[in-house]
Amino acid sequence: MWPQGKSAGAILSFDFDAEEAWIAEDPANAHRPGVLSQGRYGAQVGVPLILGLLDEVALRATFFVPGAVAARYPDRVREVLAGGHEVALHGYTHRSPAALSASEEEDEMRRSIETLRALGADPVGYRSPSWDFSDRTIGLLERERILYSSNMMDDLRPYRHQGTTVVELPVQWIMDDAAHFWIDAKESWTKKISTPSEVLEIWRGELEGIRGLGGLFVLTMHPQFIGRPSRLVMLRELIEVMRSHDDLWVATARQVAERADAVLDAGGATAERSGDG
Ligand code: ZN
Repeated sequence: MWPQGKSAGAILSFDFDAEEAWIAEDPANAHRPGVLSQGRYGAQVGVPLILGLLDEVALRATFFVPGAVAARYPDRVREVLAGGHEVALHGYTHRSPAALSASEEEDEMRRSIETLRALGADPVGYRSPSWDFSDRTIGLLERERILYSSNMMDDLRPYRHQGTTVVELPVQWIMDDAAHFWIDAKESWTKKISTPSEVLEIWRGELEGIRGLGGLFVLTMHPQFIGRPSRLVMLRELIEVMRSHDDLWVATARQVAERADAVLDAGGATAERSGDG
């Protein structure tokens, strides 16, 4: 699966949701500037700080951007592209495909591709706003020639969705900053704000475990959560751990998917997911 000299892979991914995460939760939030400011922080402060960090450590990442966010912050998306990072699909609004009608889902897919392309991106990957599909999603991805999905939680390694051309780069809540850091006054006061050191311990343990198994560590982060100063210090520490492992291939989702696509093809049908991973 991995390039010569490498025995595992790692991807830094950022879901650049901005205000759309809150508007999708409740359309009335569009008229609540205080609520929306939580997301706007990601666009105004989080993404620039993240781009600065990635530049300093000379790593390229993947940014999944809803079309509506790209339309609202086109210059920010251009900055992401100018940094050499990948920009990929994350819906048009931030609504789950499972909650959309067939025509709405097709419309979101088409408009999100058009919007990102108009800014100079070449999107070949899809992360659903909810990490979930409708019955139609995988067919839509094939029709639009989308190379990879990064949504499923059923493996530690890339695989091909059975009977399709689409490569999966699996995710999990344990490697998602939202699970550890998202607190929202409305419903989730029961959550706590984890300390950066707690999360570093969890992520580092998962990274080392996946590396030992020859798998793929897909870190999913959100500029509005990871973009706080204390958390970026922690992310830099984790990146230093990643960079200390010569056998770990830190790449964009597209690079990993292209590699997996070639390797899984070479393996033919037996490389398809068949129950044994
Ligand atoms: Zn999102």
